[in-house]
Amino acid sequence: MARSRTRFCPKGSECGACGRRRHLVVVEVGTDFGTACETVCGGCAERGDLPPIGVFAAAACVNAHRTHLGQVA
Ligand SMILES: [Zn+2]
Ligand SMILES: [Zn+2]
Repeated sequence: MARSRTRFCPKGSECGACGRRRHLVVVEVGTDFGTACETVCGGCAERGDLPPIGVFAAAACVNAHRTHLGQVA
């Protein structure tokens, strides 16, 4: 499961795991549908404490992430 940071994705307004609004980073996460991205704070990113992406959200997140990377089908 890839957990690299990505420069191409728009940052969310708060950490998806703990809700903090400071020191946010965007990380790539692997899902059943491909690679998606999530916004988390630096602390959660370091702990690997990433919010799970639901099955239905995953497909949308993966599609959105493709557009972030300029890989629009
Ligand atoms: Zn957090
Ligand atoms: Zn993305």
